[in-house]
Amino acid sequence: MRLIVLASGSSGNVALVESGGRAVLLDAGISAREALRRAQDAGAGDARIEAILLTHEHIDHIRGARVLARRLGVPVIGTSGTLRAGARYLEDVPERITIARDDGFRVAGMHVRPFATMHDAGAPCGFTFESARGRRVGIATDTGVITHEIIGALEGCHAIGLESNHDERMLEDGPYPYFLKRRIAGDLGHLSNTAAAHALSGLAWKGLSRVFALHLSEQNNTPGRAIAALGAVLGSRAELTAVARYETAGCVL
Ligand SMILES: [Zn+2]
Ligand SMILES: [Zn+2]
Repeated sequence: MRLIVLASGSSGNVALVESGGRAVLLDAGISAREALRRAQDAGAGDARIEAILLTHEHIDHIRGARVLARRLGVPVIGTSGTLRAGARYLEDVPERITIARDDGFRVAGMHVRPFATMHDAGAPCGFTFESARGRRVGIATDTGVITHEIIGALEGCHAIGLESNHDERMLEDGPYPYFLKRRIAGDLGHLSNTAAAHALSGLAWKGLSRVFALHLSEQNNTPGRAIAALGAVLGSRAELTAVARYETAGCVL
């Protein structure tokens, strides 16, 4: 099983999850051309992408969905809230498949389980992916707070992609207007380094081997700060990577 983060942050989010040569794209927030080029460069050019899963309808997650779905000839999968709110980005896609946030489903040979995230979108969610061999990946971004449900989903994952959006101090002292600072720091906004670290400290499971800090703010965070915060709780338990805006990163499980 492989997880490759192809783009992460407010300028665009895409990840590829592959198992046995079959893959899904998680979000499509950069152009189709750029996403496919990055997948190729990351060594996943031969993976057969079978679907695009959406966490929510914000532009940094859905921008490339229409062209990608049409070019690959694959369905777009999301909650009814996401598909409805993002409808204008999904015109003429081959198929739209509606999922419920509390129902697992199978795609590309993997068992996928959605879980609700706390964000100012229609019906946002994160996902865990389990391979036929029982390897598990969990991705949780764009959530203002961590809930018991999110912790429950991440518990048992071998690799986790977790939002580590901002350093609270940098956000507070930074140039954003007050309303935007409140939105980001709010319960339906984005997760701080401190909150992400706290979430990781709540995981009892010993099988976690890889953590990717995702959706880092360019203005209000640095990879170094995210690493410092999350690394302080992870120690040597798992290898940690903070994925900066123009980088890709991945792991094989
Ligand atoms: Zn969002
Ligand atoms: Zn986002």
